[in-house]
Amino acid sequence: MQVVAERCTGCLKCVDYCSVGAISKVSGKRLVEIEEDECVECGVCKRSGVCLTDALFQPELAYPRRIRAEFSDPSVPHPSTGGGGRGTEECKTNDVTGRYPRGHIGMACEMGRPGVGARLYQLETVAMALAKLGVEFEKQNPVYYLYEDPKTGKVKEEVKNEKVLSAIIEFGTTPDKVPAILETLRQVQKEVKTVFSVDMCSLIEPDGSIPVEQIAREAGANLRPNGKSNIGLGRPRFNFFGSGEESGSPGEKEEQR
Ligand code: SF4
Ligand code: SF4
Repeated sequence: MQVVAERCTGCLKCVDYCSVGAISKVSGKRLVEIEEDECVECGVCKRSGVCLTDALFQPELAYPRRIRAEFSDPSVPHPSTGGGGRGTEECKTNDVTGRYPRGHIGMACEMGRPGVGARLYQLETVAMALAKLGVEFEKQNPVYYLYEDPKTGKVKEEVKNEKVLSAIIEFGTTPDKVPAILETLRQVQKEVKTVFSVDMCSLIEPDGSIPVEQIAREAGANLRPNGKSNIGLGRPRFNFFGSGEESGSPGEKEEQR
């Protein structure tokens, strides 16, 4: 985002709308400036309509800066997944997508938050630590296409310094690996100078128990049970009580999509 100096009256109304505090007053002038390296291109300041003189201008963004808008502005879709926002359905919608079948655990690290944001080199630090444990990064997630090598979690050199509001490292694993993953995340959080939260999901067993709950408690995690009600998203695309394969005839499967 840029400020057209000739139109800016220095009213400062846009300052409080910036999601990362990148707008500030120019000393001694009735004018604001945007710190280019901090701006995540979320578009909130402009979309809010708070600027009555139309002094906020969104130029066309080239790669790699465009990545900021793809992850931070919900109106800009990710070319890799077609989704907006963080571009993934996340493991939280597993009851419909069935990404993580019975016996598997879906996990995610939500890097950054509005007000803080995250640099992609910070995401890389977490992803590389996880990759050493043999996790499989989710392909239906735009972060997957930022990796130079999804096996190592290394991020492409040219995107490392890009800043986004939030991006989700998402991966599948097996129950036996969860304690080591949580311990690794406890260690790596000391190196990463931004916030991240950790999601874990598993299918509910027919008796109502939640496998990941017990595993996480035994590993010393403080749980905050959370859920998404997927009313209206349609029937599950897989067999809840089977092997995790999609349910229905080929025609039905197509309808379910
Ligand atoms: S686009 Fe977003 S980050 Fe950039 S100045 Fe506007 S509100 Fe702040
Ligand atoms: S709202 Fe518009 S006129 Fe007021 S400080 Fe921001 S850019 Fe300048």
